Amino acid sequence: MKVFKFGGASVRDAAAVKNVAGVLSLFQKEQLLVVVSAMGKTTNALEQLAEAYYKKLKTKHALYNEIKSFHDSVIAGLLQNPNSNAYDDIENLFIELECMLETKPESSFDCVYDQIVSYGEVFSSRIISAYLNETGHRNRWMDAQNFIATDNTYREGKVDWEITQEMIAKKLRPIVNKQMVVTQGFIGRSQDLKTVTLGREGSDYSAAIFAYGLDAESVTIWKDVEGVMNGDPKKIKNAVKLDALSYTHAIEMAYYGATVIHPKTIQPLQSKHIPLYVKSFINPKGKGTTVSTKAKEKNIPTYISKQDQVLVSISSKDFSFIVEDNLSGIFSLLAKHRININLMQNSAISFSICVNNKPEQLAELKKELSKHFVVKSNEGVELLTVMHYDEKGLKKVIGSRNILLEQRTRTGVQFVLE
Ligand code: ASP
Ligand code: MG
Repeated sequence: MKVFKFGGASVRDAAAVKNVAGVLSLFQKEQLLVVVSAMGKTTNALEQLAEAYYKKLKTKHALYNEIKSFHDSVIAGLLQNPNSNAYDDIENLFIELECMLETKPESSFDCVYDQIVSYGEVFSSRIISAYLNETGHRNRWMDAQNFIATDNTYREGKVDWEITQEMIAKKLRPIVNKQMVVTQGFIGRSQDLKTVTLGREGSDYSAAIFAYGLDAESVTIWKDVEGVMNGDPKKIKNAVKLDALSYTHAIEMAYYGATVIHPKTIQPLQSKHIPLYVKSFINPKGKGTTVSTKAKEKNIPTYISKQDQVLVSISSKDFSFIVEDNLSGIFSLLAKHRININLMQNSAISFSICVNNKPEQLAELKKELSKHFVVKSNEGVELLTVMHYDEKGLKKVIGSRNILLEQRTRTGVQFVLE
């Protein structure tokens, strides 16, 4: 049993969906669970719609119509059978969404966001499933929300692994055993029956959750690149594909900014030793990248960049040292304002952290910190992480840029660059 994940770019229009069918043709004998994202930039469009609805903006109807006509055009390019039930199914979904938009928003914005934005995956999975059935790729559409149980942290749902694993193993596995299943990435359901999304780009994570519950033999993420590269080809000259990656390195790469895999994807797979393949949907017979336990990594320098970072430096007001008492206070404030630290460094009199730019939370944090400390910050800096570094390569990449902070271990080095 294999899990495939097709992201937004791989299903961005009718031609792309036809290409997906072509990829699936290569795996006709396999038991497959296919996880799909919303088509193209639909999630961004739905985000705007959610905002317009919540803020009662006039743009609401135009935004809705745009999303509807985009999907209508994809359907027109795909479905041939005029009597297909799929038309009604999809039309009904749109009516459902339209009705919701006519009601008054009654919950928090984050809750409203999830109820609206999740439609992207539902539309795309319905259309793709119908097209595949029409073209001989027999499959069954399933609602991912019936299997992925979350808490109600809207927009960043935390998975209830016990319930999720049980539901997938008991209810979904027997179906996948018999026929291909098409389902949605990105979404789950809370105990109080609300839709909860798993965070932007969370479809990779969904694929991993399903693979975990199914004890799948592998997960394949189909991308528009050949695999995981050792750096962004737009920035690193002669970027190369990494054939093999350990789980640990894949987690680090994803965490420090490589966008090819969602950071939460790896751990569930690692815990069951399920290999992850990252392959090209344009060249599906290519070898791609394998992330696994036994990966024989080559020591190829790998450059990962995280942009729009803020370097915050905290020092004492009274020349006292930054010691445990101060640090524990600082950490509680970071947790309170939900700020993740990407890198930290301390010296006798100061403590520096490099964090993602969340302007509102950071402003609150700095206000509180300033009561006891001197706080300085540099905005718009870059966190560059280099694994398996060599000095010559580092010099080339950094050039004459100003290094604000540097941290080295035996195999990796990180820089905060202005
Ligand atoms: N459609 C969602 C997003 O764009 C989830 C995903 O694509 O992974 O964030
Ligand atoms: Mg995506």
